Amino acid sequence: MHNEQILIVEDEPAIREMVVMTLEMAGFDSLQAADVSEAHQQVVDHRPALILLDWMLPGDKSGVDFCRMLKNDDLLSEIPVIMLTAKSEEDSKVHGLDAGADDYMTKPFSTRELISRIKAVLRRSNALSNDKSIEVGKLSLDPRSQRVTVAGKVVELGPTEYRLLAFFMSHPERAYTRTQLLDQVWGGNVYIEDRTIDVHIKRLRTILRPYDCDTLIQTVRGTGYRFSNIITPT
Ligand code: CA
Repeated sequence: MHNEQILIVEDEPAIREMVVMTLEMAGFDSLQAADVSEAHQQVVDHRPALILLDWMLPGDKSGVDFCRMLKNDDLLSEIPVIMLTAKSEEDSKVHGLDAGADDYMTKPFSTRELISRIKAVLRRSNALSNDKSIEVGKLSLDPRSQRVTVAGKVVELGPTEYRLLAFFMSHPERAYTRTQLLDQVWGGNVYIEDRTIDVHIKRLRTILRPYDCDTLIQTVRGTGYRFSNIITPT
C-alpha cells in the first residue's frame, strides 16, 4: 500500500519545509503549492488524501476561497481540508469552517499536534467514504448495517438516536449548538424546536448508560453538546 499524499498549500517556504519534513517523518507523502493556482493543479493531477490550506495566500484567491471552491465541486468535495491560520486571524476560523473546512489549526502549532489532527481527520473521512466502521471508546458503529455494538452486543437505537450517534462518532471533540445538530442530523429544512434535541440526547444517554458510554455525550454549557472520549470534571 502506498503512502497517503498530503498537499500543503502555504506561501511561506520555511513553514512549508517544516510541514513537509514533519509529514515525511510520519510516513506521509507530500505535495506542495505556494498559491491557489498551483494548489488547484496539484489537486487535479494527484487528488491528495488531505489538504493543509493556509488562509493568507498571495494572488487574488485566499485559502478560504479555494476551500469553498473545493467543497462546491462534486468530484473534489470529499477531500478533507485543514485550514491553517495565524493567531491574528481568529475570525478566519469561523469563515474557514463555514467554507466547509474539516478542521483548523492556529499557527504556530506543534508538529505532533499537526500529525494527530491529520490522522483524526483522515480517520473520519475514510470512515465516511469507505463505510468503514467507526470505533470510539467501547462503541463500534458499522455504517453498512447501521448497527452500533459494544463488545459484540448490539445496542438498540431508534432511527433518530442512531443518526445522532453516527454524527457524533464521526465528528468527535467538537462542540455543536443545538441548531447545528438539527441541521446536521435532521436536515436544514425541517422545523423542530431546539429542545427536541435535548429529548433525543437524554434518550441516547439513557440507552448508552448500561454500557458506561453515556459520558461520551457531554453538555457544553452555553453552547450545546460535544462527543468526547475525554472526561472533564463537572
Ligand atoms: Ca500565508
